[in-house]
Amino acid sequence: MNVHRSLKSPEELMAAGLVPPERLAGLAEVASRYAVAVTPAMVELIDPADPDDPIARQFVPSEAELTILPEERADPIGDLAHSPVEGIVHRYPDRVLLKAVHVCPVYCRFCFRREMVGPAGLGTLSGQALDAAFNYIASHAEIWEVILTGGDPLVLSARRLGELMARLAAIPHVKVVRFHTRVPVVEPERVDEALVRALKSCGKAVYVALHANHPRELTPAARAACARLVDNGIAMVSQSVLLKGVNDDPQTLAELMRAFVETRVKPYYLHHPDLAPGTSHFRLSIAEGQALVAGLRGRISGLCQPAYVLDIPGGHGKADIGLSAVRPMEEGCYSVADYRGEEHAYPPREKTGLDEKT
Ligand code: SF4
Repeated sequence: MNVHRSLKSPEELMAAGLVPPERLAGLAEVASRYAVAVTPAMVELIDPADPDDPIARQFVPSEAELTILPEERADPIGDLAHSPVEGIVHRYPDRVLLKAVHVCPVYCRFCFRREMVGPAGLGTLSGQALDAAFNYIASHAEIWEVILTGGDPLVLSARRLGELMARLAAIPHVKVVRFHTRVPVVEPERVDEALVRALKSCGKAVYVALHANHPRELTPAARAACARLVDNGIAMVSQSVLLKGVNDDPQTLAELMRAFVETRVKPYYLHHPDLAPGTSHFRLSIAEGQALVAGLRGRISGLCQPAYVLDIPGGHGKADIGLSAVRPMEEGCYSVADYRGEEHAYPPREKTGLDEKT
């Protein structure tokens, strides 16, 4: 279906044929807790005749979001434990998150910051708070990389982005600026000449980490938006969330990773879903995730392999939770599994021609 503006309520989703009238009451309760927005590009991708459509599952609210489990938490990855000033998260020594805005063009139903984003969320940093955040970055010489996230930083106008980049340009120890965004996929027309110029203007190495979870999201328009970034010297990496009912099968995951690489976006992170409130219907077990990721080895090119990571609850950072191919044996020896799962000793035990000569 074609719509001309984002759908932001259960009523608007119903009018577009994406939810039936009998679900309105339940969804109104969900929408009163968690923001709703689906952009025209994503509405167009949804097949309303498919009750299990993987795009709808990501953006159209569900009554399952009202089920909150005891292990779920408002701040699942522990941002607040590492926030020295408003808008900054300093979890690792050499990099900080700068959360200038808590608005997104779409609201993902599995969002790990769902208690912070949206119209009722933490809002946009005031001028004073932004000054304090930049003062913090400028006064910590160990900060090599600044990661703009939120919310989605690319909802800011090119002029506002240009101002942020000018402030970063003035801090010599910041060498790399990274944006985490869904915009090239969910609102590709936003990636225009002015936005690209603003991103490039700081003169630092600029990376854009694109969030997409299903290969259908890499539409021709999304690929063209990424090309406008990459052709202008902006490097791209991917981040996806492993989600039940969206991408939890080997074929879909392989197609997604290939679609990224074809778009010149290097697969980077595949996140295990976080313990965000009301998201248990998206979570699979770590063992299921490990089996899926192990299945990608050998099946698709090395260029297509993401790191499977878990953000440890409490703010302890990311851990690589993919199955290791290496198992220690007796001293100095290892068993190494190939992509078929067959194990091989390292160093090899069989005699070689070289052994016989010596
Ligand atoms: S775009 Fe990112 S921050 Fe915004 S709702 Fe989706 S996952 Fe959350």
